[in-house]
Amino acid sequence: MSQSATSGNPQRAFVLGGGIVGACCALALVRRGFDVTLIEKDAPGQAASFGNSASIGLASVPPLGMPGMLRDLPRMLLDPMHPLVIRWRHLPQTLPWLLRFRRTLAPPRMEAIARARAALLAQAGHAYDSLLAEIARPELIRATGLIFAYESRAAFEGARAGIALRRRHGIEALELDGVALRALEPAVSDRAVCGVHYPIVQTVANPLTLTEAIIDAFRARGGRVQRETVRGFELGPHGVARVITDAGRHECDLVVLAAGAWSRHLAALLGEAVSVTAERGYHIMIENAPHMPAIPVVSGDRNVSIVTLTSGLRMTTMAEFTAIDAPPDHERALRIFQGAAGLIRGLELNIASKWVGSRPSTPDSLPVIGRSPRHRNVIYAFGHGHLGVTFGAVTGAIVGTIARDESPNLDITPYRPDRSFDGSHLPGQRAA
Ligand SMILES: Cc1cc2nc3c(=O)[nH]c(=O)nc-3n(C[C@H](O)[C@H](O)[C@H](O)COP(=O)(O)OP(=O)(O)OC[C@H]3O[C@@H](n4cnc5c(N)ncnc54)[C@H](O)[C@@H]3O)c2cc1C
Repeated sequence: MSQSATSGNPQRAFVLGGGIVGACCALALVRRGFDVTLIEKDAPGQAASFGNSASIGLASVPPLGMPGMLRDLPRMLLDPMHPLVIRWRHLPQTLPWLLRFRRTLAPPRMEAIARARAALLAQAGHAYDSLLAEIARPELIRATGLIFAYESRAAFEGARAGIALRRRHGIEALELDGVALRALEPAVSDRAVCGVHYPIVQTVANPLTLTEAIIDAFRARGGRVQRETVRGFELGPHGVARVITDAGRHECDLVVLAAGAWSRHLAALLGEAVSVTAERGYHIMIENAPHMPAIPVVSGDRNVSIVTLTSGLRMTTMAEFTAIDAPPDHERALRIFQGAAGLIRGLELNIASKWVGSRPSTPDSLPVIGRSPRHRNVIYAFGHGHLGVTFGAVTGAIVGTIARDESPNLDITPYRPDRSFDGSHLPGQRAA
């Protein structure tokens, strides 16, 4: 048991946010002997951790921004079918993030960011293997691989830099012509002229079930989940003394901030500025699809993922930079989905449900993991962007070690909360 310095009782830890990251952190802490309460304003697992593309993206070394992107940006932003959207009304809030993002696009920075992503990715799969073995639910993640399918050679050529970057980090990328692609995944239509198969990628059977199973295991080990909204903090001599919610004040010894895209606001209440923005994505669930891909398919031309879950066929898309609670633009998403539907044989968009949610994205495509620089008893665990599901278990494992003042088995300084968020903190970088 982890004992409180003053009372001899187990240390009271509060995990704020019940998405996949908060769930993994809560389980790791209870396993390490903390008395853990997870505070979640809704039911656990219902935000970004619900609506994603379900990929354990072990090949996702390339960051969001690649060199050369600035050249294409005006065309992307003017194209009503493009999945990248910046809502101009929200620009004053997004601009500082975008300026940092722009600085990450310099080739040496991008390479350094890719190294820091690769270091975390190298542990992400093993972390889930251990977690799922511990909770005896290995079936929650499947070894499926992932296909990028291209409708044009031009789109494939445009992806070459990303493919080469993955290979430099040891990721197997198998290039396939149209015939080989359809032999591997018969649900892919004749529209695809070529593709790339990443065998290392895994798929979550159902993202909500994954978070819920971890929460169940957490509860079974004595953890508590309280449905409350965090409103603020009371500070004491050793950092945060109480977490204030809409239901009361909770005395605490340790706080883990894992509130996804809402974390920036909560960190600000702690007096800390972190560069995390809401990057919204959309999904639709489709009924009666005649062919469901066994291997998830990403349209390389349109940035649409098509994945078979236990709950049905899901298509996801869009990177929409706007306020977290701005009205959704399902029409645009639908146009993009319609464009990509022809990639799967016989697919018609019989829509069972629609969804929008916010990735917690940093400009440097790295999560924020580490102790707060101002408050020693606060640990940050958010900002996982496009890879929050992938990095859930490894983040939990790291938070567990930091909480016990042990050293994680990788260098976590690339993810530290007080960095510049433009890649300039990484080894080998010169300030721009
Ligand atoms: C379309 C789309 C596709 C994606 N595909 C993938 C993928 O294939 N692979 C991958 O790895 N990642 C993917 N992601 C990213 C991934 O979903 C996120 O990075 C991840 O879910 C973030 O998890 P989280 O626990 O940090 O945040 P969330 O799941 O958003 O959870 C944060 C929680 O904090 C709670 N909260 C916030 N404020 C408060 C408060 N004041 N009080 C109490 N509770 C609070 C919220 O209610 C919420 O439940 C995708 C995202 C999107 C949108």
